[in-house]
Amino acid sequence: MPRIGITTTVPSEIIWAAGAVPVDLNNIFITSKLRDKYIQKAEYDGYPRNVCSWIKGIYGALSEMNDIQTIVAVTQGDCSNTHALMETLALIGIKTIPFAYPYDRNRKALRREICSLAEKLGTDIGHAETFRKKIEPIRKQLDLLDAMTWNENRVTGAENHLWLVSSSDFNSDYERFAHDLTTFIDEASKRKPISNVLRLGYIGVPPILDDLYDVANDFEAHFVFNEIQRQFSMINRDGDIVDQYHSYTYPYDIFNRIKYIQREINRRRIHGIVHYVQSFCHRHIEDLVVRKKISVPILTIEGEAPGKVDERTKIRLQAFIEMLERHQNM
Ligand code: SF4
Repeated sequence: MPRIGITTTVPSEIIWAAGAVPVDLNNIFITSKLRDKYIQKAEYDGYPRNVCSWIKGIYGALSEMNDIQTIVAVTQGDCSNTHALMETLALIGIKTIPFAYPYDRNRKALRREICSLAEKLGTDIGHAETFRKKIEPIRKQLDLLDAMTWNENRVTGAENHLWLVSSSDFNSDYERFAHDLTTFIDEASKRKPISNVLRLGYIGVPPILDDLYDVANDFEAHFVFNEIQRQFSMINRDGDIVDQYHSYTYPYDIFNRIKYIQREINRRRIHGIVHYVQSFCHRHIEDLVVRKKISVPILTIEGEAPGKVDERTKIRLQAFIEMLERHQNM
């Protein structure tokens, strides 16, 4: 089956329905032993130093791999760098198919985009809908995994992040993903609950840092919410494929994201929020809105390149957690 790269979550049901396999290029880049080399390759070819490492990583990975010749690139609703990424990929022979989430969340426009993508891939919305129903049990299992993170406290924030972030493409093998997820849930359901009482929420793009969750755990805090990763798993599946991607919050305006985040802060009894921002990312500006609209204390941390959390960020995270603990004991 042909492998089609994706630059963020797209209606991957269409790709599967077209007889191809989606490959989330972010996950390929960040989990590769060669990830530093991919960034260096992008800079060697001329990418400026002050461009987000995710973009450079995707470009570098596609330059070095030879099994992906086509990608679906989200030209609206994801990243301000995508147009330039597409142009530089064209230079190295990669075909790009644009997909745009309408900024005004117009349902008709979204339906047109979904139908257009299906047509370009040689399928139709009906087949994508059939496939959506086929993978619904996997998404239900992810609902369960998420509840085991915040309600039962048996799944760590890091595990929650990894499973949910992988739902953008189900690791390119949904049957194996379903099997491994069921095995993981069976194993986790037998664990003792995590005893950390301090409950954190993670918002923002997925971290480029490897050990953020482990560092929080060392300071005895439990991440019970991963905002965007949870959105990748498609929490609202009522209606049809258009409705599903219409209620997905990430690609639209920040205010709907805020409503969702605030609801989850209350439901999951979250004491503080860590807002992760990526260096050189336009979404960093949204920190301003987040700080005005969210009701609990917020720590904003920034990552640039793949690797471990730096010492300064560790100290800031520790001080934040200690402040929240003092607040709880007052
Ligand atoms: S972190 Fe920001 S700049 Fe980087 S790829 Fe994601 S949206 Fe684009």
